Amino acid sequence: MKRCVALVVAAGRGERFGGDVPKQYKTLGDAPLLRQSLGRLSAHPDIAEVRAVIHPNDLPLYEIAAKGLGIGAPIMGGQERQDSVRLGLETLAADAPDLVLIHDGARPFVGADVIDRVLDALEHSEAAVPALPLSDTLKRLVEGDGGCETVDRANLWRAQTPQGFHFQRILEAHRAAVGMALTDDAGVAERAGVVVSLVEGEERNFKITTQQDFQHARDLMREATETRVGFGIDVHKLGEGNSVTLCGVVVPNDQALEGHSDADVALHALTDALLGTIAAGDIGRHFPPSDDQWRGASSVLFVNRAVALVRARGARIVHADITIMGEAPRIGPHRRMMTTRVASLLGIDSGRVAIKATTTEQLGFIGRREGLAAQAVVTIQCPVETT
Ligand code: MG
Repeated sequence: MKRCVALVVAAGRGERFGGDVPKQYKTLGDAPLLRQSLGRLSAHPDIAEVRAVIHPNDLPLYEIAAKGLGIGAPIMGGQERQDSVRLGLETLAADAPDLVLIHDGARPFVGADVIDRVLDALEHSEAAVPALPLSDTLKRLVEGDGGCETVDRANLWRAQTPQGFHFQRILEAHRAAVGMALTDDAGVAERAGVVVSLVEGEERNFKITTQQDFQHARDLMREATETRVGFGIDVHKLGEGNSVTLCGVVVPNDQALEGHSDADVALHALTDALLGTIAAGDIGRHFPPSDDQWRGASSVLFVNRAVALVRARGARIVHADITIMGEAPRIGPHRRMMTTRVASLLGIDSGRVAIKATTTEQLGFIGRREGLAAQAVVTIQCPVETT
């Protein structure tokens, strides 16, 4: 599969917007607006990495916006948007991806299907841009007499982001366009002779430019919520040892769990259930076993990341239900501590966390004490607009 990196452009000062804080850091729901954009791209199963281009003065604000989402270090932008994008691309060039999606940080409601359409188009196109047709009739002022004339709107489109490119082509196009004032990356690409395809955009993927846009975004977030349920399952092998880690609690046992991380089956199932609520792929996608940084890692890190991705879109975790399947150890004596631990990881009351256990009547691999399994269900409440 081609490796795709998303570059989120958030270095603007928002002069048209006004206010003391650049608009991308204004609070939408209960987090900075930029967090929604970053979280959605990070959650997409086909995006390997997300990087943001920011203004150096905004570093403290950015750190709050990106906290816990697992995003690489921010890249410092330049004078104009075009400079910022070029600096971002130059930074990515050290470990060049195959594809790059360039997204405006101020489009917080980008949906997974727009991203899918752009990526699909890149299979056969040099570049792809989501766009919508114009619905209003267009007028052009006629110089002199104060009147106007009608412009034919057939074949005119409003371009959105993320705009998708083959990395080397757009990097070269940006290098060749330094100092020119082009309004979007597709414009930079077109100038370099790249053929840009249009794919269908989305109305809700609007760019927040004015105070009115921001109010509209706030209204959308408040309009309606929906309930979602995520499910996760995990199995790990038992081997030699004297303890297992379950729900983040070390429990003495005459066998240990084997695995790349701490092999906490319960927290792995919980992580997958959390990711499932927002269709954000699975634990292996976010924490590949091939990546050495997760060797021996505490599974608490996995849960924390998944919680951050869920919360980034304004969702509230309502409840979690975990069942551990095994002949040993006995869970009862540790249940209270496990419940407290999971509740604190999820940031909810322990009355909203169920930790259950069952044997399999000595049947199957679990009954033969060859492994432990766990299942988890998580319920969240999230704004419909963030689907
Ligand atoms: Mg596992």
